[in-house]
Amino acid sequence: MTIAFDNSYARLPERFFHRQPPVAVTAPKLIAVNRALARRLGLDPDALAAPEWIEVFAGNRVPEGAAPLAQAYAGHQFGGWVPQLGDGRALLLGEIVAPDGARFDLALKGSGPTPFSRRGDGRAGLGPVLREYILSEAMAALGVPTTRALAAVTTCEPVWRETPLPGAVLARVAASHIRVGTFQYFAAREDAEALAVLADHVIARHYPGAAGPLGLLEAVTEAQARLIARWMSLGFIHGVMNTDNMAVSGETIDYGPCAFMDEYDPAKVFSSIDQFGRYAYGNQPKIALWNLAQFASCLLPLMGEEGPAIEAATEAINRFADLYQAEWLRLFRAKIGISVAAEEDAALITGLLSRMAEGRADFTRTFRGLAEGTAAAEFADPASFAAWEAEWRKRLAAEADPEAVMAAANPACIPRNHRVEEAIRAATAGDFAPFHRLNAVLARPFDRRAEAEGYDAAPGPEELVTRTFCGT
Ligand code: AMP
Ligand code: MG
Repeated sequence: MTIAFDNSYARLPERFFHRQPPVAVTAPKLIAVNRALARRLGLDPDALAAPEWIEVFAGNRVPEGAAPLAQAYAGHQFGGWVPQLGDGRALLLGEIVAPDGARFDLALKGSGPTPFSRRGDGRAGLGPVLREYILSEAMAALGVPTTRALAAVTTCEPVWRETPLPGAVLARVAASHIRVGTFQYFAAREDAEALAVLADHVIARHYPGAAGPLGLLEAVTEAQARLIARWMSLGFIHGVMNTDNMAVSGETIDYGPCAFMDEYDPAKVFSSIDQFGRYAYGNQPKIALWNLAQFASCLLPLMGEEGPAIEAATEAINRFADLYQAEWLRLFRAKIGISVAAEEDAALITGLLSRMAEGRADFTRTFRGLAEGTAAAEFADPASFAAWEAEWRKRLAAEADPEAVMAAANPACIPRNHRVEEAIRAATAGDFAPFHRLNAVLARPFDRRAEAEGYDAAPGPEELVTRTFCGT
């Protein structure tokens, strides 16, 4: 099978990237091909699972028409400025235009060192690859904008972290891999020409309706407000919201130490490197706005830099709070079965959330349990839920079919940490069955069915995972 690649990013100026092929590995073996995603891209899933394409996914063969390159970018990591990051263990192979006209990047992660690798080996361990595969596909099935996993292979080469781990490569698909940090890279170099080219590229590719840099800023602000509200509505914690990990397309990108929380706790942090909780669950909207402010300052050179430009840019990102709040309210209203908005809804929702925090209630099970009549059991003190429930039931009287609204808004199954860890542990020992089972369950997260039984359960005390790692 040949893909008709159309590589618009590779046609940008040479200083945007470093061209190079992937570094080959010893003995690639296929872990998985995402058949549904292949079909969505207009590709033949069987061809992707054949030896020729396994070689491509491992980086041993560059497909015809691809133009492999490592993208340059910079970024703020935990608030600290890093002038050069870039693809240190990833390569963009090329762009695929799907039958419906939508354009996607096809990239490899773990494909060997590049000039941006710094001290890294350019490789990825099996654990982080499976983690990204599971989490990104679960997010897609939950309706969250996200990069996707098209395939994963093992390399038969160890990667050295604290201990040797099996090596793997992920084939990732994204609307694009352009980050806030891509803009920052050129802004820091005072390369206004590159900024203008990049802004035009992003507008044409993601926001064709946007008028100039200000329109772009408004569009990205809106996309991020929607995205973060979605994360919040699912209890998702990204874990490393550095500006180089924020895609301007509005997709979730770079699944590292991310996690879905079990018990609801607004201050929840999983990432082992997030010592001060900068990227805690409840901080995510604030951090997104901080990142957008960095993005805005990159665009200023294209907007004139004078007082009026600064004012317009400030106004654009200040819309984030209202956009986010409106989307948050819309999503959480649905979670409690409300489709007809009323003034007091926000108070009703926050009333439940504060009881959940106090009662250490499981986030996913509580919301799912509202329609199924099992929510009270999630609270340390069921009486505190009962008080809220009485008020809620009164409010529901105005609703035609709240059960249907809730069933569509509240998943039964999320990629719980202990299940993800279980799948990774088994795969590391050579058994990929739990990984495949988990993916199959998470492909239909809202459906109750025999196959999914047990996957909705919260971890027992001995299963609890409290820390997650980047794995770099
Ligand atoms: P991340 O925290 O995964 O978003 O990565 C931040 C930066 O570190 C990016 O420039 C990555 O390309 C780079 N990086 C992470 N892991 C590795 C690795 N194993 N080898 C080379 N570069 C890496
Ligand atoms: Mg990253």
